[in-house]
Amino acid sequence: MDLSIIIPLYNEAESLPELKAWIDRSLQGFTYELIFVDDGSTDGSWEVVQQLAGQAGAAGSLVHGIRFRRNYGKSAALYEGFAAAKGDIVITMDADLQDSPEEIPEMVRMIREEGYDLVSGWKQHRQDNALTKNLPSKLYNWTARKVTGIKLHDMNCGLKAYRQEVVKNIEVYGEMHRYIPYLAKNAGFGKIGEKPVHHQKRKYGVSKFGLDRFVHGFLDLMSLWFLSRFGGKPMHFFGTSGILMFLVGFVMTVWIIVAKLVHQAQGLKFRAVTDQPLFYLALLAVVLGVMLFLAGFLGEMVARSAPERNRYQVKERL
Ligand code: UDP
Ligand code: MG
Repeated sequence: MDLSIIIPLYNEAESLPELKAWIDRSLQGFTYELIFVDDGSTDGSWEVVQQLAGQAGAAGSLVHGIRFRRNYGKSAALYEGFAAAKGDIVITMDADLQDSPEEIPEMVRMIREEGYDLVSGWKQHRQDNALTKNLPSKLYNWTARKVTGIKLHDMNCGLKAYRQEVVKNIEVYGEMHRYIPYLAKNAGFGKIGEKPVHHQKRKYGVSKFGLDRFVHGFLDLMSLWFLSRFGGKPMHFFGTSGILMFLVGFVMTVWIIVAKLVHQAQGLKFRAVTDQPLFYLALLAVVLGVMLFLAGFLGEMVARSAPERNRYQVKERL
């Protein structure tokens, strides 16, 4: 099978029939499976998926459906879709008709002929609210580029194409669907490209993500950055900052004591140690340093029992 098209959907019943017809028109000449993942819809989306699966499809196409018992989120839907995908190239796209399936053949060509592991869509002319989506999204993508080192304009575009190996070797969880290119890069799939894609206004239904996406997105980015740098060796992070903190506190303490002794010996006036602001700073720094160290030891114990502590991406063996 050439392609698996994974479509996460949450209350998108009106869009689905048009979406399927549009995909079938755009993918003539390919063999493909559509995997609709119903993320706990309550608007009859599943009944529509059942009808679509029952219809005689385009030549060489199959329709599968996965239905969650409740709403888990887009990442969970993609995770199940990735696990089920059998095509050589795996496509993800939104169900709301905002992404155009006409872009898929070119993305597939980029993977097959130009050797990309992952091709991400770039909604160059984004058809969403300028103030609540487009502007924050620019800022968010700038931050993501700086942190991840991946030069994508639109990291979180729903329309993406992957080599099958990529989706079978990454694990999307929580709300990490925003950072799949980063997950792929960390798993060793470094050839990541992008293609400007057409973007349509939402025709039916409403957007499922509010402004909190940017706060959550930023926190998730920090977590991924931390995990990719120090996830396997937390002591290197906590130990380094712990030593620095402790040293700062130690130097201050020595200074306070020496200064007092010198003043005493010379018969000059001197303050009680606890009357000086520096004393409290020194105390704080030493205590923080020890706590950072403890966090490092705890982190090492967690890392030691993590199931993926020895999971590597072996590319070839002879
Ligand atoms: N979606 C989902 N589960 C959720 C939220 C969204 O499967 O909990 C799907 C949604 O149905 C759509 C895609 O994820 O197919 C993108 O969502 P949406 O169009 O609301 O995002 P936006 O385009 O506004 O960024
Ligand atoms: Mg949308």
